[in-house]
Amino acid sequence: MSEPHLPERLARAITLAGPIPLSQYMGAANAHYYATRDPLGERGDFTTAPEVSQMFGELIGLWLADLWDRAGRPPARYVELGPGRGTLAQDALRAMAKAGLAPPVHFIETSPTLRAAQAERVPDAEWHVDLVGVPDDGALLVVANEFFDALPIRQLVKTAEGWRERLVACQDTLFLPVVGDRSFDSIIPPELRDAPYGSILETSPASVALMRQLAKRLTAQGGAVLIADYGYSGPAVGDTFQAVRGHRFANPFEDPGEQDLTAHVDFATLAEAARAEELIAHGPVEQGPFLEALGIGPRAEALVRSAPARAEEVAEARSRLTEAEQMGSLFKMLGLTAPGWPEPAGFA
Ligand code: SAH
Repeated sequence: MSEPHLPERLARAITLAGPIPLSQYMGAANAHYYATRDPLGERGDFTTAPEVSQMFGELIGLWLADLWDRAGRPPARYVELGPGRGTLAQDALRAMAKAGLAPPVHFIETSPTLRAAQAERVPDAEWHVDLVGVPDDGALLVVANEFFDALPIRQLVKTAEGWRERLVACQDTLFLPVVGDRSFDSIIPPELRDAPYGSILETSPASVALMRQLAKRLTAQGGAVLIADYGYSGPAVGDTFQAVRGHRFANPFEDPGEQDLTAHVDFATLAEAARAEELIAHGPVEQGPFLEALGIGPRAEALVRSAPARAEEVAEARSRLTEAEQMGSLFKMLGLTAPGWPEPAGFA
């Protein structure tokens, strides 16, 4: 007997039990989406920074190696959340090895398809579905690029009756957002109480829970985290729930499981969750200035010296990663360090 397709399964669940929270819809859609394909690159749905150029992963590797060196070179593990094709890790590990750091590698990844791609680039990695299996000894050097944006969000909508949760209903085979009955007024920050009707407030309980779990481990074991994603410093109102397919925006309520669903990351809330567990937060700063501070200029020049034929390609990649109207401004970096760890580079 074959499994019914995801849209049919979701439609059946909604018909039986009523509209489901947006977070449940997004979680189910993305789990199916990532499990069944490699979505990255020109021929896929979207291109991430490590797929633009090796410079991105290399500079992150050097950022970690520098911190680790100044922390007194303790035993350490490299941990990456949602490593995609494993490109960032491969580039970072190569750069770290040159700086004398060759840590065991732990990948948090649920997609069998992407685990296979990661194994081609980092064959010695160990895979986990969550942080629980990552050993509790050694400092943790953690990287997450375009990971938190894929975790499920909840949306609250201001109606004439007050704040209500956005749910997903189903009519025939069409999914559509509706508003639930339960009141969420008691959890709305004071500055948003007077927001106009129709305003949307996003939260990501899954992101906050993971952040707290990660922060607890870092406080106990030492280490640092670098989170890179597109986002804002909240709380702010606005609907950032979006779908991308074939490098274009699409309707997120169409074809669940066949397009990438994301929401902008609320960096202020992530930083607050980390601080609640004793971590020190740095930034967020914009990706462009961060990469410039880490030396993407000299790194690009060195690449061109060793391969002059690639001059144009390297220059193009550098501007794509750093220029404000490309990835340089919307994408931001949040650094987190364990108590007693040195000040990280790039956030001054
Ligand atoms: N970091 C990579 C890939 C970004 S795409 C890059 O920059 O290229 C998001 C990644 O997170 C994918 O590897 C996806 O399979 C993984 N992912 C998404 N949701 C996840 C979850 N709940 N648990 C673990 N991994 C998840």
